[in-house]
Amino acid sequence: MTDATKPAALPAGATIGILGGGQLGRMLSVAASRLGFRSHIYEPGAAPAGDVAHQVTNAPYEDEAALRAFAASVDVVTYEFENVPTSALDLLESLRPIHPNRRALAVSQDRITEKDFLSGIGLTTAPYVAVDDASGLADAVAAVGVPSILKTRRMGYDGKGQIRINDAGQSDWTDAPSVLEGFVDFSAEISVIVARGQDGQVSAFDPGLNVHREGILRTTTVPSGQPSSVLTDAVLIAARIVNALDYVGVMGVELFVTPKGLVVNEIAPRVHNSGHWTQAGCAVDQFEQHIRAVAGLPLGDGGRYADVEMTNLIGDDIDRVPALLAQPKTQIHLYGKGAPRPGRKMGHVNKVL
Ligand code: AMP
Repeated sequence: MTDATKPAALPAGATIGILGGGQLGRMLSVAASRLGFRSHIYEPGAAPAGDVAHQVTNAPYEDEAALRAFAASVDVVTYEFENVPTSALDLLESLRPIHPNRRALAVSQDRITEKDFLSGIGLTTAPYVAVDDASGLADAVAAVGVPSILKTRRMGYDGKGQIRINDAGQSDWTDAPSVLEGFVDFSAEISVIVARGQDGQVSAFDPGLNVHREGILRTTTVPSGQPSSVLTDAVLIAARIVNALDYVGVMGVELFVTPKGLVVNEIAPRVHNSGHWTQAGCAVDQFEQHIRAVAGLPLGDGGRYADVEMTNLIGDDIDRVPALLAQPKTQIHLYGKGAPRPGRKMGHVNKVL
């Protein structure tokens, strides 16, 4: 690459704008600060990221004046949350560069668009069919079969907005445009945290093994215990996705391991819960990697130098912190949220194995 085509890196002291002020925004802010940048969080609700950011805007995504002022104060915009309304993005994009790009966001905001994109680049997804309303469910079940899973097309996360369909006569409805997915009989769930820089360089972290409880990620473990052929394939799939999207930043790619090969479950155009282990396992973790990419810096060394188990602290798990503090080889991350509620992610623990 010649100097003329090299991306211009942001200078030290530049400001990274982050849409979303949850724990991911918080850890991105810390990483930005370690690299000499400032961060400005834009968040309509409570913002645990605000505690560690240089500046916080607490305003709705519909507030045009607040969005303009935010854009004027930052050098680049990124996000920790993929469901930012399109109107806000249109305005911001006219004022500042946004990484990852709009196409990546559009693809991941809608499960049908996402699956169409993935199959369009030759990847395998669960069989799927769009279901616009309750009256279309019976035909969809006839096409996809049972067992299957009905999921809202948009805004679903942590297993929310999902209904398991076990028999053809079942008429439960999600109350929103949905997709019916065939149930994938997987032996394991793994994910790849992949990064792509502005120069097109791609780097993937070692794929982790994910275990969910009640639809929420419980643990991620590396090494995953999967054969190296599976891990290589997983990384190649992730690379194909980020290259096809001309992506800049970190992406989480969730995959099912099946006897017939890997099935892509979903992609998240942001740092990902299943990548938190990198904080204890790598010289450069997923948060720094993302900031490097959006700031136009070269990607860092994401090689893994330790075996790690990441466990989410969900709801009352926070009560375990005093005992965890006494454990060796244990790194604790707390998100500074208020009262614990069932299902609320309060922090996570990285245990070096
Ligand atoms: P999702 O919100 O799509 O990531 O789904 C949450 C969890 O539900 C996944 O991590 C899987 O454990 C399970 N799941 C989702 N879709 C399927 C599927 N088509 N077949 C089997 N399990 C699924």
